[in-house]
Amino acid sequence: MEVVMKLDATECVVCGIPFALPEHMLKEKREKGGFIHCPNGHSVGWGEGKMEKELKLTKSNLKGYVKRCESLSSEVNSLEASRRALKAANTRLKKKK
Ligand SMILES: [Zn+2]
Repeated sequence: MEVVMKLDATECVVCGIPFALPEHMLKEKREKGGFIHCPNGHSVGWGEGKMEKELKLTKSNLKGYVKRCESLSSEVNSLEASRRALKAANTRLKKKK
């Protein structure tokens, strides 16, 4: 039986032994985080994967945008209020003439 498998190499951060894992498995650990064991039994982990980090960053960016939107919206409201006040004052001035 012939098995074709794509392996990706990595090394243990503790003992430095190089070893290989199925490409998709290593990719998943790098993106989502997780733990594997080196051939010597050390726990090698990706506590927070790339995707997790990006997700956190995106969430905090989003919060910032929402805040900005809220402050812009209240700015628009107060500008609209002063526009109306100016228009009313203008009308009053015109009537005086
Ligand atoms: Zn090791």
